[in-house]
Amino acid sequence: MLHPQTQAIHTGHFADASNAIMPPIILSTTFERGEDGLSFPSGYMYSRYDNPNRHALEEKLNALEGGAECITFASGLAAAMAIFQSLGTGSHLILPDDIYFGVRNILEKLYASWGLSFTVVDMTNLKEVERAITPKTKLIWTETPSNPQLKITDLQAIANIAKAHKLLTVCDNTWGTPYFQQPFAMGIDIVHHSTTKYLGGHSDILGGALIFKEQSAVTEFVRNFQKIGGAVPSPFECWLLSRSLATFYARMPIHASNAMQLATYLSQHPKIEKVMYPGLPDNEYHALAQKQMRNGFGGMLSILVKGGQTAALQIASGMKIIRHATSLGGVESLIEHRKSVEGELSKSPENLLRVSVGIEHIDDLIADFGQVLAKI
Ligand SMILES: *Cc1c(COP(=O)(O)O)cnc(C)c1O
Repeated sequence: MLHPQTQAIHTGHFADASNAIMPPIILSTTFERGEDGLSFPSGYMYSRYDNPNRHALEEKLNALEGGAECITFASGLAAAMAIFQSLGTGSHLILPDDIYFGVRNILEKLYASWGLSFTVVDMTNLKEVERAITPKTKLIWTETPSNPQLKITDLQAIANIAKAHKLLTVCDNTWGTPYFQQPFAMGIDIVHHSTTKYLGGHSDILGGALIFKEQSAVTEFVRNFQKIGGAVPSPFECWLLSRSLATFYARMPIHASNAMQLATYLSQHPKIEKVMYPGLPDNEYHALAQKQMRNGFGGMLSILVKGGQTAALQIASGMKIIRHATSLGGVESLIEHRKSVEGELSKSPENLLRVSVGIEHIDDLIADFGQVLAKI
């Protein structure tokens, strides 16, 4: 078995008649039938069902997570929708209190009338998770490290609870990424990704993926949801994402080491109240993160600044290199005042800034914080 780093470059590769080293982008929406008039010799019929670039991408992503099947979507949230849709009306699910707000938004705004109900719990409190289980519960959705407070959920413990109650588990591994965290090794059933973030890595592709540890009726439903429902990524986006994955293992160590150094610097700065980063030895989740993550603790951190929302906004817009924008996981560093993005549903503290630490030189990132904090 090849190492994931090698698979990120070679798995799923295919060539056209030119034997090009880089795969072609097959834009054709339709594929010719065989001479018998019934068969599809290439295995492809119509590009919503499947196409060579999507197929190659799904093989590669599947290899990186070590799953049985990968199904890609036009966005991370379209992938989440496919899971919710598979649960059926009258179902109940359990969500963490600190979570990418868009996932919760789907359940509140789009699925309320479907009779899909949910309970929000502090997922770091296992008793609370168990108490939330009802006869209608079908699924536990986890996100670790979580957005934006970088809480760490004990995936093995959640998987054990879920198995005892015959529930499905999903881990949103967008922040963890297969480089830092392997949810399947801890008993999780389904890995969710917004590939828009670290997997894409350059803030120029929107996409989502679900990877299944084992094939099941849910996998079949989700595959149909993709093929028939049609929230599919385009061949160009699949090609671009496949290209980005080739450098994934080269980018991630720099994100992690920059984030660790920036977190250390900020944790010693008098104008910062708190740094949320599981790599810091005094972080409340450090021991658990050390147990279930590897190769570092990711490229995301959040800070609570002294001086409330006013100071937070001054810092975010006073940066010279670190750009003030939403999203994460790109080569460029971004900073964001989470509360104003999340709107009225937000549970983020008003003095919280989230930083997506890029792969610039760390001294330049520290100097950027230095110059802006000196002005506050
Ligand atoms: C961005 C993000 C999503 C949503 O993905 P989109 O690609 O924006 O639809 C879901 N979960 C996490 C953790 C994210 O960061």
